[in-house]
Amino acid sequence: MVKQASPGKGKSKETVASRSATEAAAKGKVYPFTADPGRAANMRGNRRSDTKPELALRAALHALGYRYRKDFRLDLPLRRVRPDIAFTSRKVAVFVDGCFWHACPDHGSRPKNNDWYWSPKLAKNVERDRAADEALAQAGWTVVRLWEHVPLTEAVAAVVAAVGGPRR
Ligand SMILES: [Zn+2]
Repeated sequence: MVKQASPGKGKSKETVASRSATEAAAKGKVYPFTADPGRAANMRGNRRSDTKPELALRAALHALGYRYRKDFRLDLPLRRVRPDIAFTSRKVAVFVDGCFWHACPDHGSRPKNNDWYWSPKLAKNVERDRAADEALAQAGWTVVRLWEHVPLTEAVAAVVAAVGGPRR
């Protein structure tokens, strides 16, 4: 056995430069910069599907015995719609809308600075949401839209109210 006799290496000073969101934004490759860390997290968290509130809702429903399709594409007469959670036989479509992307009245105030970028984009999202609602209703579906800020228990209750009891 060779005894390691190296003199304890002193902790080398970490010199990893952390890239700030500002720098990244300056390069023009990512979302427009937002100074509000809460909003930045919100923006990152609100991808099209599989957001945290959506995952939590799915898990809770599943635990209650509900079975559903996730991100299931519906080819409706008016348009294609892809609800976050779909109960196909009972025709209930559930959406968990991100407060930012879907312009929640409580948290959806759009950033002042990048107005040129955001307002048309967000307006389009909202427009598309309404068109989806209309297409679903026209095809006999019940639509449950939940803001991501809705507490899980309330969200579950809303879905249960629309769907009824879990199928045995
Ligand atoms: Zn909200």
